Amino acid sequence: MRVGIFGGTFAPIHNGHVKAAHTFLNECKLDKLYVIPAGNPPHKQTPDCFSSEERLEMARLAFTDKDRDNDRIEVSDFEIRREGKSYSYYTLKEFSKTGNELFMLCGTDMFMSFDKWYRFEDLFSMCTLCLVLRNDSDVKGFESIEERKKEYEDKYNAKIVVLKCQPYEVSSTLIRSMITEGKDISRYVPESVCEYIKRYHGNK
Ligand code: ATP
Repeated sequence: MRVGIFGGTFAPIHNGHVKAAHTFLNECKLDKLYVIPAGNPPHKQTPDCFSSEERLEMARLAFTDKDRDNDRIEVSDFEIRREGKSYSYYTLKEFSKTGNELFMLCGTDMFMSFDKWYRFEDLFSMCTLCLVLRNDSDVKGFESIEERKKEYEDKYNAKIVVLKCQPYEVSSTLIRSMITEGKDISRYVPESVCEYIKRYHGNK
């Protein structure tokens, strides 16, 4: 089976994540995609405003819509259940036990600092890394992404593919600040997530 892994803080999950997940699923012809909210992300502080359980619940809500490919997508509590830092290395190690072919999705922002990830060289031997462009400046600065890709391919025999999709420019940071300011976030998050945030965080 071709199995995809999409990890992130997802505080909260937004339309950029959802679009990236569906592109990943279809372009890489995945049989199954696991969306895995991080328990204790190593690269960033989890924002206090959403608990791990809330981030997990919102991710589940974002992929429950029946008329899409959501039957191939599972939101997993694997990293939230694990103690300690949520290193992708441990997640991939666990998922590789099944013998499935693994693919990991990563935004180009994360890719540019990929050499700071725990045991990143080992990650290259465990999966094909699939990149999704985050914004228009990534399109303009595509050369530096290509250079880094080539460096990893030459040095570590990495398998890296850039997914074809128009960037959807939004971040969880933007949504959190809009919530704080009481602004309408409905065009940036799935409807079910918007409802959830309205109910539990009082956003309009
Ligand atoms: P924050 O603003 O809190 O830093 P974020 O919006 O970057 O959050 P994360 O949960 O940290 O979201 O991202 C998880 C993964 O999804 C990362 O690989 C990131 O690059 C990718 N990603 C985030 N937003 C987008 C987007 N708009 N389009 C494509 N990929 C994205």
